[in-house]
Amino acid sequence: LKKVPFDMVKAVRDSISFNEPLIMEKRLFLHKSFAEGEVTVTADQERIRQVLVNLLKNAVDAVSEGGSITIEMEGKDGKVLIRILDSGPGIPEKNLEKIFDIFYTTKKSGTGLGLAVSRKIIEAHDGTLVAGNGPGGAVFTITLPRGLSA
Ligand code: ADP
Ligand code: MG
Repeated sequence: LKKVPFDMVKAVRDSISFNEPLIMEKRLFLHKSFAEGEVTVTADQERIRQVLVNLLKNAVDAVSEGGSITIEMEGKDGKVLIRILDSGPGIPEKNLEKIFDIFYTTKKSGTGLGLAVSRKIIEAHDGTLVAGNGPGGAVFTITLPRGLSA
């Protein structure tokens, strides 16, 4: 891991920009619930960005046209919590762990790599990546230690 201090708020914004064309195309509502201030984290910036892009892309894939995605972020104690919620169909309870298996996909042209790789990256940072279901659809929660500069 190449750990450097960076602003997680900006990393989340970048992952949104990266998925912007798809978000526009499906006319999705994107809700951001995080303080405008900075949340400094010391971590592998590229890999964390990759995780955010993966999770957001999955949310975009899951929702139908006009649906919504919410991204929440909260820095507290030595940790940062990032939650991505979508208005898709959710995930059957029995598959909440299986979706992290390498090559597990339910998509026609899916790779089944996104979640497996994302969990590896987060766990390499001593964090956790957990799937669940919320009031709308799926909910993915990243918990990450803020590292040196926390
Ligand atoms: P891929 O996106 O290539 O299918 P992933 O590892 O990213 O691979 O995801 C694995 C599977 O987990 C998906 O095919 C889908 O069945 C399920 N999944 C992931 N994210 C969501 C979500 N937000 N809502 C519903 N199902 C999801
Ligand atoms: Mg994926």
